[in-house]
Amino acid sequence: MAKQMSGEQMYVLPEGAQRILGRDAMRINIAIGYAVANIVKTTLGPKGMDKMLVSDLGDIVITNDGATILDEMNVDHPAAKLMVEVAKTQDKEVGDGTTTSVVIGGNLLKNAGTLLEQGIHPTTIIKGYEVAEQEAMKILERISKDVTPEDAKTLNRIAMISMGSKGVGSEEEKTKIANIVVTALKQVAEKRDGKYVVDSDFIQIEKKAGGDVLDTELINGIIVDKEIVHAGMPKTIKAAKIALIDSALEIEKTETDAKIEITSPEQMESFLKQEEKMLKEMVGKIQRSGATAVFCQKGIDDLAQHYLAKMKIMAVRRVKKSDMEKLARATGAKVASSLDDLNESDLGNAGLVEEKKVGGEAMVFVRECKDPKSVSIFVRGGTEHVVSEVERAVKDAIGAVGATIEYGKYVVGGGSAEMAISSALQDYAIKVGGREQLAIQAFAEALEAIPKALAENAGMDAIDTLVTLRTRHKASKEGNSYGVDVLRGRVDDVEKIGVLEPAKVKKQAISSATETARLILRIDDIISSRGKSGGMPPGGMGGPGGEMGMD
Ligand code: ADP
Ligand code: MG
Repeated sequence: MAKQMSGEQMYVLPEGAQRILGRDAMRINIAIGYAVANIVKTTLGPKGMDKMLVSDLGDIVITNDGATILDEMNVDHPAAKLMVEVAKTQDKEVGDGTTTSVVIGGNLLKNAGTLLEQGIHPTTIIKGYEVAEQEAMKILERISKDVTPEDAKTLNRIAMISMGSKGVGSEEEKTKIANIVVTALKQVAEKRDGKYVVDSDFIQIEKKAGGDVLDTELINGIIVDKEIVHAGMPKTIKAAKIALIDSALEIEKTETDAKIEITSPEQMESFLKQEEKMLKEMVGKIQRSGATAVFCQKGIDDLAQHYLAKMKIMAVRRVKKSDMEKLARATGAKVASSLDDLNESDLGNAGLVEEKKVGGEAMVFVRECKDPKSVSIFVRGGTEHVVSEVERAVKDAIGAVGATIEYGKYVVGGGSAEMAISSALQDYAIKVGGREQLAIQAFAEALEAIPKALAENAGMDAIDTLVTLRTRHKASKEGNSYGVDVLRGRVDDVEKIGVLEPAKVKKQAISSATETARLILRIDDIISSRGKSGGMPPGGMGGPGGEMGMD
């Protein structure tokens, strides 16, 4: 919209465009950013409330997940969209801590607003925030503790805490799911150059409404959401030898379409015989390889199905390419691109392959693979809403535990880490001095928004809580574990009760919040060709007909 031309700015604005300059622009952006943070703030922590989001079409989502809420909210103001970006980045990078990042970001903006009113220049604030962020990272590093993939106890706690605020109800359900997630991640984590790498793509999540959340299970293998092609094939195969084929078990169209003039019934018959023979030959190759279950990425001819059924070979067709890759990783099979390439050594293994009807729909479960490099979590729950929320909880836990395994460090949650960093930053600010000191203090205070929100959401007195926490953190050594025990409604050593979080989630939350706050504080000019949105009053975002916030 605006082009910088040799120091002179030139604007070519369409009719009806609005422009808001300088402090006004900044004030609006700050107010909007803070408003977005306040919307998600009430969902923070296990005592946070849920939001019910209703789309233009009347679809309902009930959730507690910051990223999902912002995604569904259709925010319209550009500053609000930047805040949504914070959540999106957080979600993409670590898969948890979205609400935290938005709340910190909004409070960084709010505190910057106070400094602006006191006549501090935005550049000073931005610089101060930069310095504060760097120092915060150093403090975070110091207060983080080491953890390995073998430490199931710590990882389980981290999974439990990350799921804490989701609609996954009972302790029993959470314990079960935490166990599943930790086992799954340990299974797919790989050590490369002395470091653990986790590719969560290799944890497949399938969900089906029906049953109970406690029926959610870990499958050492994968689930193929297809049915067995032929009723005459076995529905269960033990100690299965698995062939993965990415060519069609059909006579290629071009072959049959080629001009063949059939002039007599005998000719017709011999032609069909020929086709039959070719298909039989194809199936013969599969049988000779020793395969007992076939997963084909393409189609399987009816006649080929019939022959396979006769040989007691199970077959599934039109399997997704991504599922073929997971099958290969789970069973150790090599995908054969033609039947001539199919050898016994290409076959994979699974203790059990079975077709099961779930919620009236057949699915094929490839189970009991030995040391699979790809596993599945089959999510169950009473209704669509429940399974969707459980799925989000599983994803958060995968993000949290995955990040912990990769980064190898955790911190104490319940606002404890934020308080520890805030407290140390206050000391640091005094050393820095000058105007920057004020910005660093503003940054330190923004971090207190996390324990404050946790306390508010738990129905505790937020001011009392903060005062107690500040005193405790000042009095004890750096990185002590005092935080908000939201379940008991008091300040306590929350490490003792296992409120643990991945260090990487905190690191990312603080850095993406700071980055966005700095970005927004650099804006001193809003030019809006759509007229209304630049001048929208704070808080008045979203609404039907608004643009999708997340594209
Ligand atoms: P986010 O989207 O930021 O992950 P959540 O709603 O998941 O937001 O809340 C995470 C916050 O709740 C973290 O600060 C975490 O330490 C805190 N928390 C979770 N469980 C507990 C608990 N049992 N006691 C105290 N704090 C908790
Ligand atoms: Mg969370």
